[in-house]
Amino acid sequence: MTAVEDFKITKASNSKLKDISLENIPFGKYFTDHMLEVDYENGEWKTPEIKPYQPILMDPSLAALHYGQAIFEGIKAYKNDKGEAFIFRPQDNFKRFNISAERMQMPPVPEEIFMDGMKLLIEIDNNWIPSQPNHSLYIRPFMFSSEESVGVKPSEKYKFLIILSPTGPYYSAPMRIYVEEYFVRAAAGGVGFAKTAGNYGAAMYATAEAKKKGYDQVLWTDALEHKYVQECGTMNVFFIIGNTAITPDLESGTILSGITRDSVIVILREMGYRVEERPITIDEIIEAHKAGNLHDVFGTGTAATISLIKELRYKDYVMEYDITQWKAAPEVLERLNAIRYGKVEDTHGWMVKI
Ligand SMILES: *Cc1c(COP(=O)(O)O)cnc(C)c1O
Repeated sequence: MTAVEDFKITKASNSKLKDISLENIPFGKYFTDHMLEVDYENGEWKTPEIKPYQPILMDPSLAALHYGQAIFEGIKAYKNDKGEAFIFRPQDNFKRFNISAERMQMPPVPEEIFMDGMKLLIEIDNNWIPSQPNHSLYIRPFMFSSEESVGVKPSEKYKFLIILSPTGPYYSAPMRIYVEEYFVRAAAGGVGFAKTAGNYGAAMYATAEAKKKGYDQVLWTDALEHKYVQECGTMNVFFIIGNTAITPDLESGTILSGITRDSVIVILREMGYRVEERPITIDEIIEAHKAGNLHDVFGTGTAATISLIKELRYKDYVMEYDITQWKAAPEVLERLNAIRYGKVEDTHGWMVKI
């Protein structure tokens, strides 16, 4: 077991922060002064190190580059008006990370390294958490196989790292979405529920094709019949039909169990909506639209929180929505932000103080 006292800490001699303004900083481009790095070898995790942010030296035969044993997480930390910093539901990301690790035949990362290491790292780079409204610190834990060998087998060496990136308001313009009925993101038995690198690489071609047709993203459908909707790009998806919110269930393992998704379900229920997690077909969505019962359609994820969908195209059928009429999605976003920026009491125990 690793205790925080066991971390080896090397501080950067000067901070890059003096050259960067955190105001409206773009997502994922700038990284803080320090990072956490720890190696797994011979069946055990070595001493975790927090050190100046720097490149990783690697051998060209590094297994992850060839066979894709690589997983990650995305988490955010926020500062309230008093300047206190909190992380949003990190324990859930920790659990999900090790679920991804198991599916990819990688060793679990101990809680002492993932959770305590993350807090320690953020404490050290605390000045990097922006205090401007709607800004946050994006936290990216990741692990990859680091064995130097091109043999196809689970690696015996891994590297786990955490890097931090300050980010400004991530405005996501209302999206036009192409309902995908040829390319596949995930099938039952596959790795759809894991936050593993290959899922994103594999999605890029279909997304680029949809962009050529003038769409922002694809709405993935099931691999067998292309009938049931799954996820929208790298976001979970919600449909408000009448007074019921419907989001695809997680049963078949084809959908990433989003922490924003879970939070949105809780908040929608508090707002008085009935929430159903169940299979939903594109036909049901079209029928609801034709009957005038389809209201808000939106995606959820850590980066943007909520992204409105203003158009869905299925084959030649185009549904355009009047997003100015929507009530649910904007209110969910407002309530979530109020919790995250400490404007209301955190009754769910979602915010973890650093
Ligand atoms: C990360 C991710 C989500 C959203 O998960 P959050 O925990 O809400 O950030 C949804 N779908 C995919 C494919 C993802 O990678």
